[in-house]
Amino acid sequence: MGQIRLGIIGCGIAARELHWPALKTMGDTFRITAVCNHTEPKAQEFAELVGGIPYVLDYRDLIARDDIDAVSIMLPFELNCRVTEDALKTGKHVMVEKPLATDIETSEKMIALCEKYHPLVMMVAENFRYRPLYRRVKVLIDEGRIGNTYGIIWNFFTDVGTGANRKYVSTKWRFEEVYTGGFLIDGGVHITAVLRDLFGEITSVNALTASVNPEAGRFDTMNTQFTMKSGALCSLNQFYSARGVRFNSIHIFGDAGSMLVDNDASKITIMEREKPEYSETTDEERGYVGEYEDFHNAIRTGTPVVSSFHQAYADLKALLAALDSAKTGAVVRID
Ligand code: NAP
Repeated sequence: MGQIRLGIIGCGIAARELHWPALKTMGDTFRITAVCNHTEPKAQEFAELVGGIPYVLDYRDLIARDDIDAVSIMLPFELNCRVTEDALKTGKHVMVEKPLATDIETSEKMIALCEKYHPLVMMVAENFRYRPLYRRVKVLIDEGRIGNTYGIIWNFFTDVGTGANRKYVSTKWRFEEVYTGGFLIDGGVHITAVLRDLFGEITSVNALTASVNPEAGRFDTMNTQFTMKSGALCSLNQFYSARGVRFNSIHIFGDAGSMLVDNDASKITIMEREKPEYSETTDEERGYVGEYEDFHNAIRTGTPVVSSFHQAYADLKALLAALDSAKTGAVVRID
């Protein structure tokens, strides 16, 4: 299927460390024809990294080019709405990094773009929706391997104040109070995406927040109780300043067995009464390749994308409701 000429807007961590490594394994499907970053050293360095291509400092100069069919937007996400709409106005297909927006009002503006600019393709780069690990978990659950799911506990512990993680703390836009939530939203939407894909809609939420390391934003710790439409209970612990520990697991409890998903090792273990443990490991990450394959396919064939603006809106809404609950102390229902 035909090659898509891609423009990249935002040459930071996501572009360098996540998107480019995926794109360069994808043969002829995409060709990056120009990149943009508002500060020149980053624009220049990334343009060289991806093959010595042209760069611009103003995204409007990039979207005006006629050698670009689609753009991939990887900016501080308070810019997502404006840059997405400007790109659509010039007839470009858009993939934009998660979270969809900073708040409900802006998310609704993004949703309105879907109708206004149809049939241009719009999708959110939610790589977790394409991870083989979660797709395999879904198959096993749907096959009834642990029976009916009644409980989920997701523990995500990391320390953003140390080691390689510090690069995220150094992107100050994550904490400048342009939007609520800091890491709790930035990282949390990956988790609500998976919860919703695996277990259906979230109907209510109550949550508590704490601040451990002020350098990691106003709140870096949250305990959230979600109720799923199926009736299953879900407890999510997002601890971004957990000293000396990195742990990311999902325990899923069914009436016939239990499942442990080790997110870092891409390993699934199923435990049942009086039976030997069963485990399997899936391919590593591959979510970024998956999202670009979906983008390509949607542009070339018109097939709807998996990671739509509507899905990303619902992922974000659940977390914003959790923050609201933590603030007010009330259980928040989600439509
Ligand atoms: P980042 O390193 O700060 O990258 C953003 C880039 O945009 C920076 O290079 C910044 O340049 C540039 N920029 C800012 N304003 C601009 C403007 N008006 N015009 C052009 N360039 C501009 O942040 P990041 O970590 O890559 O995050 C970017 C997005 O990717 C966020 O939405 C984030 O949530 C997402 N992300 C997703 C994942 C994932 O796993 N899917 C992981 C990481 C990030 P300066 O730094 O010079 O200001």
